[in-house]
This record gives sequence, structure tokens and C-alpha cells, in this order.
Amino acid sequence: MSRRTLIAGNWKMHTTGAEAQKLAGDILSSCKNIHDRDVLLAPPFTALAAASEKLGDSPVILAGQNVCWEEQGAFTGEISPLMLKDQGATAAIVGHSERRQIFGESDEMINNRLVGGLKHGLMIVLCIGETLSEREGGQTFTVLEKQVREGLARVSAEDMARVVIAYEPVWAIGTGKTATTEQAQEAHGFIRKLIEELYEKGVAEQLRILYGGSVKPANVDDLMSQPDIDGALVGGAALDGESFGRIINYQ
Ligand code: PEP
Repeated sequence: MSRRTLIAGNWKMHTTGAEAQKLAGDILSSCKNIHDRDVLLAPPFTALAAASEKLGDSPVILAGQNVCWEEQGAFTGEISPLMLKDQGATAAIVGHSERRQIFGESDEMINNRLVGGLKHGLMIVLCIGETLSEREGGQTFTVLEKQVREGLARVSAEDMARVVIAYEPVWAIGTGKTATTEQAQEAHGFIRKLIEELYEKGVAEQLRILYGGSVKPANVDDLMSQPDIDGALVGGAALDGESFGRIINYQ
């Protein structure tokens, strides 16, 4: 089954509104003749409206970098699905390793975010991945299985159509170290098999699984040649219009 590729850019805590408009504009020019793949941009919350204005009615998907499970209330520092939509976003990332590692988000909390976002019609990119010590300790697949099972608790087969999984080995994020194509393919194959066990073959076959971790113009073609790699979640290289444009235009 052929799955539509998704190239996603996570801008993390970078860009003011003006910088976001400029970057979104540069990226728009690189993908205007591309019709066979999807592009998603995740600026910081404060730059969503500026990016949305620039993207206009283009097919580029706009995403929040996180989302709360509640619509409103006493949740200082959080952003609700309704607020994201109000700023022009139709998607959200949850479970990024920086949220897990720096801000202590648990699989249960990430699952609440994911379910809350889905309930309001958002597309959700669920990030999972093992640390270096977990990989070296032979724990990679145990960790991935727990993050998938707990992250997707209460999600129906039907709602899985709006879920994307991003496999991001923590040791490869922002370090310049990329997983080998074999390591990435092995993890993606494992995740797809697990989704088949948890749901059914059709759900596993339509699921897009992105690779993230130091994706650059120099390594994207190899990564994208793997059968279970359906796109990329890009951090550092997504902040440069030219580099991200090259990644979108992978061969
Ligand atoms: C990320 O932020 O999800 C990421 C993969 O970052 P980088 O591409 O910089 O490793």
C-alpha cells in the first residue's frame, strides 16, 4: 500500500512572528510545485497566527508543538485544542522527547493530550524513541512498545487515520548522529507490526511513520528509500528554508 509522505518541521523555541513569516514564505516557495507529499510546520504557539497568515490557503499543514486535553480552565502555561484551531492549526505534535525529558511528561499525560487533540479533530504526531542508555541496554523495543501502547490507549481504529507516529531516537536528536537506515527501518518495521497487533493490518498499512533525528539534505534520500519510512520530522534543518526545501524535495 502506498502511503503519502509527510515532511514535518519542528521549529522548537525559535522564531518571532516576523521570522516565522519569512521562514514559512521561504518554505512555501520550495514546495509550491510538489503535489505528491504533505508538508507540516510546527512553529511556537506565539508564531502560529503569523505563519498561518503567510501560508494562506496553501495545503501546508500547520501544527502546535503540544496540546492540552482540556478546552479551557486553570492550566497555566498550556494551550487548548480550540486555541490551536483558532490560530489556524489543524494538527499538533505530542510526546516530543524534549517534553518527556526536560518537562517530565509521562506516557499517560501524552495519551491525554493525544486523545484530547483527536477529539477536536486535530491530526496528531505522536513522538516516541529510546535514549542511548536504553539502546545500549538492549531496551529499544521494550521502550517503543510501552510508548506506543500507552500513548495510543483509548484510540479507535477509525481515529488512527488522523495519527502519525514519529520514531525519534533521543540520541539522534540535535546531536548530528543519525540512526543508520537499517536501525531506522528496523524500528519502523517493529512499530508497524505492533500497530497491526493492536489494531488490524489495514490500520498498520495506512499509518505514516516518520523518522526524526538529525535529518539533513545529505541523509534524507537514504532514509526515505526504506519501505517503512514514510517521512521525516526535522528540527535543526527545518529552520533554514533552503535545507528544509531540499529535504521536502528528497528523491
Ligand atoms: C526534532 O526536534 O524532532 C528533531 C528531530 O531535531 P533534529 O532534526 O535537530 O535532530
